[in-house]
Amino acid sequence: MNSHIITIGDEILVGQTVDTNSTYIAQQLNSIGVAVSEIQSIKDDETAIKTALTNALKNNNLVILTGGLGPTNDDITKKVLTNYFNDELILYPEILKRIKDFFKKFNKPFLEVNMHQAMLPKNAKIIDNNLGTASGMWWTTQDGKEVISLPGVPYEMKGLINKIIPQLQEKYQLGELYHHTILFQGIGEAKLAELLKDEEEEIRQKDITVSYLPSVGQVKLRLTGKQTQKDYILKELQQIKQTYIKYCFGEQDDLLEKVVGEILKSRQLTVGTVESCTGGALAAKLVSVAGSSAYYQGSFLTYSNQLKEKIVGVDKALIEKHGAVSQEVVEAMAKNGVKKLGVDYCISTSGIAGPTGGTTEK
Ligand code: ATP
Repeated sequence: MNSHIITIGDEILVGQTVDTNSTYIAQQLNSIGVAVSEIQSIKDDETAIKTALTNALKNNNLVILTGGLGPTNDDITKKVLTNYFNDELILYPEILKRIKDFFKKFNKPFLEVNMHQAMLPKNAKIIDNNLGTASGMWWTTQDGKEVISLPGVPYEMKGLINKIIPQLQEKYQLGELYHHTILFQGIGEAKLAELLKDEEEEIRQKDITVSYLPSVGQVKLRLTGKQTQKDYILKELQQIKQTYIKYCFGEQDDLLEKVVGEILKSRQLTVGTVESCTGGALAAKLVSVAGSSAYYQGSFLTYSNQLKEKIVGVDKALIEKHGAVSQEVVEAMAKNGVKKLGVDYCISTSGIAGPTGGTTEK
């Protein structure tokens, strides 16, 4: 099954609203094995909506639209789609009652304009929205294609998509996809891909998707396949993990600071930091983990050379000879930190945060 997502709203096109709706919808569709072939943002305009929908239906059997379902005149999606499908708006008394109850619950006056929200297309399946006033509308075309229109408000859209996904699964017998991720640090995406060249080729031959997802200081390796391939995916990832254990620190949603903390705790070891360029960021990461007091002792923040000398006793001559940003000095900071903080391990940082101050060597 192929799908196309259309987000409607002038505010997206002028850069006022970030289109997070399509990201969420794409994730949900992918999780049930529905490929998204295109994501498109268009104006609140009749021709734009009709043209986009016609084009989307040429190559896809599912089109999901969001936005423009409010009660005001500038919200035209419902009118345009009803007209597109030669449908007509009729009053849905049960929806009207729900909307009236919704206003009562929040102690807001029910305005006449809200009546419009209960006028819905006769031939569409109506998906009740219990988080707002705009219902979802689901047309099935004569040639069996699905067109679903949802409100633009992200939490309302999410509520409705979460109802739609199981219905699509049931109607099209879609199996859920299986994903598993392992996490690397200390190695870049390109280098990791080079190391895993052979494994990757073998995995891809089984129709399993291999994705490298880099973020600051980390690369995630995610395999995606069918539920029936779960055992194979887990076995392959465990093998990769063992081979590259130097870089691989965890799985799924693990956090490096948490994994490090668990190891220290299980071995009854302690850690501290002596930081320069990171200005306490490393300590902040370590203490962000609940229960970190079991292994984290404390830190020195020695940004200036004077404090590196005065507080952690780095030799002035060493700094003069190699500079503060050098392996020699950062090693002295860590070694002296172990003694001064009374910890088993000390992590020290030194560097040039930039954008100015760097040289070719540093
Ligand atoms: P409402 O009943 O509130 O009018 P609606 O379906 O008409 O719902 P819009 O008016 O298009 O929705 O948008 C309502 C809110 O949702 C706006 O604040 C808008 O910025 C936000 N929104 C709309 N589309 C998106 C999108 N694609 N991604 C994220 N936010 C969106």
